[in-house]
Amino acid sequence: MAKVKKTIKAITINADKCNGCRACELICSAFHATPKYSSNNPARSRIRIVREPLRDIYLPVYAGEYTASECTGRGKYIIDGKEYDECDFCRASCPSRNLFKEPDSGLPLKCDMCEDDPPREKPLCVEWCLNEALIYEVREELVEEADAAPADVEIGVESLIDKFGLQQVLDIIARTSKR
Ligand code: SF4
Ligand code: SF4
Repeated sequence: MAKVKKTIKAITINADKCNGCRACELICSAFHATPKYSSNNPARSRIRIVREPLRDIYLPVYAGEYTASECTGRGKYIIDGKEYDECDFCRASCPSRNLFKEPDSGLPLKCDMCEDDPPREKPLCVEWCLNEALIYEVREELVEEADAAPADVEIGVESLIDKFGLQQVLDIIARTSKR
């Protein structure tokens, strides 16, 4: 099968550099407010900081794919003497926790790399992180033609319609596309 070039945009997290200042949450939520920059409710942010200040734990987590059901894994990780719950690393908007859900509609949130704005050098959260805990990288990879299609987005929309109904999904798409 023919290979095609795919542009991969990625943000790498260096949790050791994060001091929990939450500037990334602030700018992301303001950017995604309606109208833009009219409020800064962190519940609207596509990046959330898992914070346990007494144990010096600050872990940035990006909103990823929506999942219709919760998983069964509940392990613990110990990294550099700090204990993390398995859910701490999970990027999904899932029914078992109140994270990555649009506060007005309850619809799941996903990081969109701030792409409905004019082209910018870096995503806003990366720009606002003064500690360089978030590192932006753009690279090109050769992939099978079929893998270059946005199949995961389509699957995500289908499961959203299953859960919330077509009309509610169409309403939120109409609302967000006006921003
Ligand atoms: S802006 Fe950077 S240092 Fe501050 S909470 Fe976010 S990732 Fe951590
Ligand atoms: S890249 Fe943009 S949309 Fe994604 S978390 Fe950062 S500020 Fe929010």
